Amino acid sequence: MNIAIDGPAGAGKSTIAKKVASKLGYIYVDTGAMYRAMALYFIRLGVAPTETDKIDTMCADADISIEYQNREQVVVLNGENVNGYIRTEEVGNMASSTSVNGNVRKKLVELQQKLAASTDVVMDGRDIGTVVLPNAEVKVFLTASSAVRAERRYKELQAKGVEADIKQIEADIIERDERDMTREISPLKQADDATFVDSSYMTIDEVVETIIDLAK
Ligand code: C5P
Repeated sequence: MNIAIDGPAGAGKSTIAKKVASKLGYIYVDTGAMYRAMALYFIRLGVAPTETDKIDTMCADADISIEYQNREQVVVLNGENVNGYIRTEEVGNMASSTSVNGNVRKKLVELQQKLAASTDVVMDGRDIGTVVLPNAEVKVFLTASSAVRAERRYKELQAKGVEADIKQIEADIIERDERDMTREISPLKQADDATFVDSSYMTIDEVVETIIDLAK
């Protein structure tokens, strides 16, 4: 059984997917973390998002794999656990820029499909229901208004004691969505057979229950 959850940045996909996976005893696969690890690789090498030729060839040397420690996903980049480095806005924006590349996508999609073939998964991302797991038994397109998504991200940062400007966060979210929805390869879009869920005015538990009901 595979559950695919797609949607824009900050819709709550990872929080929801993690809870659904834990309730069902499935493995949670965060595909955004893989694109973030790839982005970190380019940032560390000083590659700019505009250097498309370099991105095209250099992605072959980024060895990205996934491990699980106490059911938590650990992203390993060339032998190093990079979980602690991939959650910044800088890496998120670079991931959005470099994930338009066909070779980057091919490499990570293969890894994602291998994971889903070997076990029951809840996988979240942008193209899971459309490209990675077109035969997933349950597909959800999870979204919320950009204002609500910006507010959630702002509160998350505040809780961590990080200074942030909510208007800037919303502008970044809108820019990232625009790029993810209009790219040529595997753009973010709702699969024809996905259930649309707008979480703007739902609690986390309500969204989790909606997906569990679909799975049942
Ligand atoms: O979900 P997250 O914010 O971690 O994703 C970072 C970026 O990775 C997204 O903005 C998107 O461009 C890219 N991504 C993707 N396909 C996926 C998951 C993420 O293109 N399946």
